[in-house]
This record gives sequence, structure tokens and C-alpha cells, in this order.
Amino acid sequence: MGSNQENITEQTTVVIIGAGVSGLTLATFLQKSGVACVVLERRDRAYIEMRQRAGVVDARGVRMFEQWDLADKLLFGLVAQTIDYRLNGAGRIFEIVGEDGSPSRFCTQQMLVGNLMKEFIDNMAGDVRFDIADVTIHNEEGQHPKITYSDANGSHALACDYIAGCDSDRGVSRASIPDGVLTKYSHEFGYAWLAALVEAPVTSHAIMGVSDYGCVAQLPRGPHRSRYYLQCALSDGPEDWSDQRIWDEIRLRLNDKTIQNALVHDKFFVPLRSVVYAPIQYRNLFLVGDAAHLVPPTSAKGMNLALYDVDILSQAILRAVQEDDTMGLESYSDTVLTHIWNYQDFAVWITDMMHDAGDPTQRGTFRQMIARARLDNLFDSETAAHLHSEYQRGMN
Ligand SMILES: Cc1cc2nc3c(=O)[nH]c(=O)nc-3n(C[C@H](O)[C@H](O)[C@H](O)COP(=O)(O)OP(=O)(O)OC[C@H]3O[C@@H](n4cnc5c(N)ncnc54)[C@H](O)[C@@H]3O)c2cc1C
Repeated sequence: MGSNQENITEQTTVVIIGAGVSGLTLATFLQKSGVACVVLERRDRAYIEMRQRAGVVDARGVRMFEQWDLADKLLFGLVAQTIDYRLNGAGRIFEIVGEDGSPSRFCTQQMLVGNLMKEFIDNMAGDVRFDIADVTIHNEEGQHPKITYSDANGSHALACDYIAGCDSDRGVSRASIPDGVLTKYSHEFGYAWLAALVEAPVTSHAIMGVSDYGCVAQLPRGPHRSRYYLQCALSDGPEDWSDQRIWDEIRLRLNDKTIQNALVHDKFFVPLRSVVYAPIQYRNLFLVGDAAHLVPPTSAKGMNLALYDVDILSQAILRAVQEDDTMGLESYSDTVLTHIWNYQDFAVWITDMMHDAGDPTQRGTFRQMIARARLDNLFDSETAAHLHSEYQRGMN
């Protein structure tokens, strides 16, 4: 970095730390409403636009973008969010719809982030500062908040009214909150998933499979790519999972010998855990998305929960700035956490059940048969209404 001299302090209304899906969505809503904001991002634009993650914006997220008249610009076509549930290879297909019957939209996270960049930076002349380092939050009682950071030109200071911590689980926002303020609630499931991004034709439905050899899931990630998830031991690493073993296990767990090996682009291991921090605000700092909570990938919902937080926070900031009404900001943490705990309830329930119903060496054959009976009931057409309501508990 260049000189250590701090440049003259600039002023804005909201500093957003992190240009991921939540930071860019919040920035776009604020800019569209005439509220000044600056986004600080430690990576470069190309890196962020390449990051492969979620695949579908759920019905609630679609409604939110529609309300901002942005759905057609940012999202792609309507998609029936369907799950092909397989028990030892036998499949049943179910559609997940919003509580009002509205559909989700296909839009991978990197497509959404790319479109948000175009909208915010290129169309709205929004201010994202990439490749910055040393972000420090100054949020002392009775003082105006200030963010300092450095880039190739030296050190800078930004005074603001509000800070949105959209910098994920390992960012600086949550870490800036003094010890003893936040409580961390976490649940370790005791197993991991191997996530493998593969070059393979997309199936028409997401697949969630349960088998005696463990769980398997396939989620579409673009026209020719899928992310496979395979349940594995917490201690497993890349040396345990060659590409050949990945394909052998996929064929075994889906009971489908016709599946061909294809290129594996990347693979990594995710211990399954749920985490919630509370409260998710401290003075003028508001935590958003993965900075505030994590869900296991079984529920495929982290991005959509982050969009929910943005929906609540953007409305609260607008009311504070435009109407001098801070009630929405004061209740931000309570509002978001009520929704998050409902979703965590669903995520733990479905994750436990999917895994109990799988490899019997884990919890025994008795638990396996109970879990399979529950899954059968859940996915039975006669109880489809029950399935619908169980999904809705967390999803809207
Ligand atoms: C492999 C994988 C698959 C997933 N699949 C799904 C799915 O199917 N459905 C779903 O809904 N969710 C899914 N998720 C979860 C989803 O991707 C996250 O929940 C979502 O990205 C959270 O958004 P966010 O804006 O909070 O964080 P992020 O998108 O991670 O953005 C955080 C940003 O902050 C930046 N940053 C971090 N630290 C700093 C710092 N100190 N200074 C400045 N900037 C900083 C980062 O570079 C990043 O750009 C998946 C996640 C992974 C990893």
C-alpha cells in the first residue's frame, strides 16, 4: 500500500462493507431511492463476478425485486423450483412454490451479482471501491461512525450515518463488535458434505437423494454445470475423494449406472453447521447475510436469507433517512432473527431427517427406518399439502 497519511474524510450516508449479493442488492436499492452509499470490497470485480454459489432466487426474493421494478433486469426466467426426491434410486418430483403460489426464478448467484454490478456501477454510477484493505470500523458511542481503509493510493476515511456489514462470516464487521455483546448460537451436525462443481448436463429438477451409502444432491448451476453434494466424514479431505470415487459414489447413491464421468472443476468440504448471532446490530452497525447467520447447504437457502435481511434493512434505512423514523432500524435484529430462527428450525429438521434416513452405520437401522417412513409420508402425494406447509415454514 502507498502512503500511510490519511486522506481528507469523505462523507456518505451508508457505508456497505462487502460487494457480495447482499451488499450490492442493498446498494442498488439505496441508490435507486437517492440515499448516498459507498461499497468497500477487498476483492476485484472480475473475481466477484466469477464466484459460483447459489442457483435460484426464491419466490420471496422475486417479489422483492419486482417491488423495486428490478426483477426483469436482474433475474432470468421463471422456474418451477422442483425437487426430485430419491430414496434408493426411486424418485418423486415435487414443486416448491411461495405461500401465494408465486414461482421462483432461475438465476445463479454469480449471474445476479454480475447484473447487480451492471445496474449499480454502470447504469446508476454507483460507488464500489474494489481491492481495498485494512477496513476498520469506528463506531463509538455518541460519535459519528467512521470507516478507515487503505488502497494503492494510501489511507482513507469515510464518515457515515450507518454501516451495513455485508462481508460474510469472516469479515471485519462482526469482528468489530466488542466481546460480550453478541451471543453465538451454533449447531454442529457431525458430518460434512463434499461439494463438487462438475461439467455435466443439467437435469430438469434439483435432486436430493437418500441411500444406504449416504446422501447425495445435485443442484443446477448453469446450462452445463451442476454442483453435486456428497455426504462424507468430517475428517475427509481431497486425498480421500478422487474424481473417480466421486462419480462412483454418485452412481451408487442415485442407483443409476448410466451416469457418465465428467470434468470436476472444483471440490471442497463443508462441515454441516447452523449458526446464528444475536443481536445482529450494534449502535449504527447492522449485520446482513452470512455475517449474521449460516445455514447448512442441505437447505440451499443462504443467499435467499441474505436477500430477506436486505429487504428489511433497506426499508428501515429509507424510513430513517427520509422520514426521520428509526423504529425499523431499532427492531432490525428482532425482525430478522424471528425469520432466521423459523428457517433454522426447518433446516435442522430436514437435514437431520435426510441424514438419519441414509447410511445406517451413523444412527442405526431403527432410526433409518423411522426417518424413511417420515420422508415417505412427507413426499407422499396424499400429504403434499403437509410438504408444502413444512417448506413454507422456513421459506417465506
Ligand atoms: C458452494 C456454495 C453453495 C451455495 N449454494 C447455495 C444455494 O444453493 N442457495 C442459496 O440460497 N445459498 C447458497 N449458498 C450460500 C450463499 O452463497 C451465501 O449465503 C451468500 O453468498 C451470502 O451472501 P453475503 O452477501 O452475506 O456474503 P458474500 O456473498 O460472501 O459476500 C461477502 C463479500 O464481502 C467481501 N469481504 C469479506 N471480508 C471483507 C473485508 N474485510 N473488507 C471488504 N470486503 C470484504 C467478500 O469478498 C465478499 O465479496 C452457497 C454457498 C456456497 C459456498
